[in-house]
Amino acid sequence: MHKIAVIGSGTMGNGIAHVFAQQGFAVNLVDISQANLDRALATIAKNLDRQVTKGLLDEAAKAATLAHIQPTTDMAFGVSDRDLVIEAATEQVETKLAIFRALDEKAPEGCILATNTSSISITKIGAVTKRPQLVIGMHFMNPVPVMKLVEIINGYNTSPECTDAIVALSKKIGKVPVPANDYPGFVANRILMPMINEAIYTLYESVAGVDEIDTVMKLGMAHPMGPLQLADFIGLDVCLSILRVLHEGFGDTKYRPCPLLVNMVTAGKLGVKSGEGFYNYLHGTKDLIVSGQFTKTC
Ligand code: NAD
Repeated sequence: MHKIAVIGSGTMGNGIAHVFAQQGFAVNLVDISQANLDRALATIAKNLDRQVTKGLLDEAAKAATLAHIQPTTDMAFGVSDRDLVIEAATEQVETKLAIFRALDEKAPEGCILATNTSSISITKIGAVTKRPQLVIGMHFMNPVPVMKLVEIINGYNTSPECTDAIVALSKKIGKVPVPANDYPGFVANRILMPMINEAIYTLYESVAGVDEIDTVMKLGMAHPMGPLQLADFIGLDVCLSILRVLHEGFGDTKYRPCPLLVNMVTAGKLGVKSGEGFYNYLHGTKDLIVSGQFTKTC
């Protein structure tokens, strides 16, 4: 596998493109939005600059990485000659199913179709294609250039050969693949999202403020980041979508999304990507929006 396409150039798509391009893969980065593609390339350049500043990369390697990425809004062009497609578009079931129907038509026979979904069933996604044996979950962590883990999720019909190829590829790009079976949230989000949701309920019920909750989890549990800040980084809309998949998939009320999370997403407060969530990122710094007393009407 040498030629890949990444579908979706948001938080995760630009990181996945960055990592593969840095390893010398030819990457077509596909999005429906030219503005998002432009932002993704600027983000990749900024992140490469950071690697150069830290002495992890030289200017020539930075230029070579950028040269390996071809942005496009034309999916047919982007995937027509690829060995592997990794979908990292919006976490909505209908969006993913529509993309995989299109990919199955436009990508060459034998091309593996992977999805970076956080929670949606790989089996369900595979079922809308004529190649479910070649559909697999490749769940990278955020930020992709930094985080080592890739959860590899086997759908009901994913072939062992496909899993082996994706495990080997993940190692080749310097990641640590961990296989899991296809149940809602897989491993990472089945454990992480209830914690984030509980942190939001703790705020919603005025047990403590944003800063207090995050400080307890950082200093008390040695987490590098508090759960509310982490939710802002993941994207509050992504968190809500994952919780809904868990809630529906298990039919268990313990996964019901906190009404405060629902309100914030409805109000367009999505975290870092919209400039505001539990913290404010509009000035290039992380300012606390709410601390101490917090009311349920917020
Ligand atoms: P995002 O909202 O930052 O970006 C999504 C991108 O997909 C946008 O640029 C959008 O224009 C594009 N898109 C939407 N429909 C498209 C289509 N039909 N064709 C091409 N592009 C399309 O989302 P994200 O946070 O990068 O999440 C992407 C995927 O990665 C989701 O499945 C999410 O669950 C998963 N994920 C997210 C994180 C995280 O921390 N954000 C971590 C692991 C996995």
